[in-house]
Amino acid sequence: MNATRRLCLILGDQLSFDHASLQGLDTENDIVLLVEVMEEASHVPHHPQKIVLVFSAMRHFAEALQQRGIRVQYVKLDDPNNSGSVPNELRRWEALLQPDEIHMTECGDWRLEHSLRACGAGIQWHGDARFLCSRPEFSAWANAKKQLRMEYFYREMRRKSGLLLNGDGSPVGGAWNFDAENRKALPKGIKPPSPARFSPDAITRDVLELVAKNFSTHYGTLDTFDYPVTHAQAQALWSYFLDWGLAAFGDYQDAMASDEPFLFHARISAALNIGLLDVRQLCSDVESAYWSGSIALNAAEGFIRQLIGWREYVRGVYWLKMPDYADGNVFGNTRSLPEFYWTGDTKMNCMSQAIGQSLEHAYAHHIQRLMVTGNFALLAGILPSQICEWYLAIYMDAFDWVELPNTLGMVMHADGGYLGSKPYCASGQYIKRMSDYCRGCAYKVSESTTDDACPFNALYWHFLMRHGELLRGNQRMGMIYKNLDRMPESKQQALWQRGQLLLATLDKGESL
Ligand code: SF4
Repeated sequence: MNATRRLCLILGDQLSFDHASLQGLDTENDIVLLVEVMEEASHVPHHPQKIVLVFSAMRHFAEALQQRGIRVQYVKLDDPNNSGSVPNELRRWEALLQPDEIHMTECGDWRLEHSLRACGAGIQWHGDARFLCSRPEFSAWANAKKQLRMEYFYREMRRKSGLLLNGDGSPVGGAWNFDAENRKALPKGIKPPSPARFSPDAITRDVLELVAKNFSTHYGTLDTFDYPVTHAQAQALWSYFLDWGLAAFGDYQDAMASDEPFLFHARISAALNIGLLDVRQLCSDVESAYWSGSIALNAAEGFIRQLIGWREYVRGVYWLKMPDYADGNVFGNTRSLPEFYWTGDTKMNCMSQAIGQSLEHAYAHHIQRLMVTGNFALLAGILPSQICEWYLAIYMDAFDWVELPNTLGMVMHADGGYLGSKPYCASGQYIKRMSDYCRGCAYKVSESTTDDACPFNALYWHFLMRHGELLRGNQRMGMIYKNLDRMPESKQQALWQRGQLLLATLDKGESL
């Protein structure tokens, strides 16, 4: 074996050929190292399909690197010498290969980056060029701002990228944001496209077997796995969405429907977050679809905003605020996560649908996460750390940099409003408006205080009453508190009592 000049460690969510650490590799003397480790697969009980996705995509990526003539050292999970953690594997291969240099890209998880920086290997770190906004650039933008707002950051990213701008730098269509047009419920008779599916090949079948054997205690179905695991498959999924999903995505991106887990959503977030797709190319394709007249501006702008606005913004907040950010719990929540989050065993149809499809596909779209499972956790006062762990474990696309700010900040408002200006709390009326879930529910969404009343209704008012001291001063909550204050005392008391009863039921470990 030749002496090793450069050892490049590539993590399971860094499967892009474009990393700086992979440029200019010497095919004779440089080695790329990929390791499947138990610590990353089990520090939370990740959905088995997510472990399959990452390991299978890593194995395919290793093969693709070898086809380019690059030397690869690949450690499988069941390799008898596998030490079980990324830092330990790096040290083991450093000792075996004696490289002159070790290179890697910044991690997506503070915990892992911290342990790698502390492990004693002299790593040369590279920024993650997959993102438009680097960590230092975000810090410079956020510096000295008391409160951050995504909308202003997003405008900066639009200017920086040049996406959907007129020649004079103004936004196409005369506004930066067309979100108000993207909140339609799904009308009867509109049928979403059937989802693009990718059958497991021999590599994926091996991984499915490995995961079935080693992670049988993790929650979630394994045999429905149909995600793309190569760059070419991810591109095929993306092309399918451009042809069949994007035009209706804008209008119905917030809609929910029974037994329709995907609607017009692209399902590309997992492939994007592990490096199988490139954010710049996605945005450029969407912009081209708009300029060609095949999609409306609200669809194009809404999609691009998710990618260069929200996605980049939450990553920036994560690296700016970690590790303290993870301890946020501004409402002082103490309640444990109900068991039904792991089983879907609840009479609340909206929760059962959202959790059920999450267990089956490791997927739910943003409104199901924010306004159903997330909304319930917020209203019920669940410990932020436990609901954050659930999101990180259950969703295919959840990596710490994106999951934590979205859950702790946006869903739970546990950072006190640093990330978002108000809590996204809502009663059952919102769910009724945006879905058909209530029609098939054991609870009545029109009721608030009866035994069969929708739990979201009383819990919503209970949440507002118990956190009035913190929230009444929030300008965006003014109208809601006016409505509460206008309610007769007897109604307020009945809502409080029903809320108390529901919370006591959860505290007894019973389902709702
Ligand atoms: Fe969910 Fe309430 Fe509607 Fe049932 S009635 S589906 S619990 S919002």
